[in-house]
Amino acid sequence: MVRDTVIQWRARLSRYRLVGGKCRECQKAFYPRVKSCPYCGSRSVDDVELPRVGRLVAYTAVYSVESEARSGSPVVVGLVDLGVARVVSEITDVADPDKLERGSQVEAVFRKLYEDGDEGVIVYGVKFRPRR
Ligand SMILES: [Zn+2]
Repeated sequence: MVRDTVIQWRARLSRYRLVGGKCRECQKAFYPRVKSCPYCGSRSVDDVELPRVGRLVAYTAVYSVESEARSGSPVVVGLVDLGVARVVSEITDVADPDKLERGSQVEAVFRKLYEDGDEGVIVYGVKFRPRR
């Protein structure tokens, strides 16, 4: 429990504020933020707050989700282009995945990610939804 809480605390910047990393060497941005640049391996990485609106590059819908916390399927997972970086995220508030369009605008929203059934810890974070 304590260890999990520490892990959640460390992940708060990327979860709640959509903070990724930006490499000082190659200038590329990425999400989630990691210690070493995934492009060039440099460990000179700064925090960078990413834009909250992007475009849906690709997506897939999962219709059979094995979880007690998930009653409303399908679950849609998409690749979102934020201009400076691409993010893989759940796409929420989608009643019919067939009506999603590649290239359409999506925006970051703050939602429940999952619930730890044993400890009762509810973890919140960023998902994306179609922009209206
Ligand atoms: Zn780099």
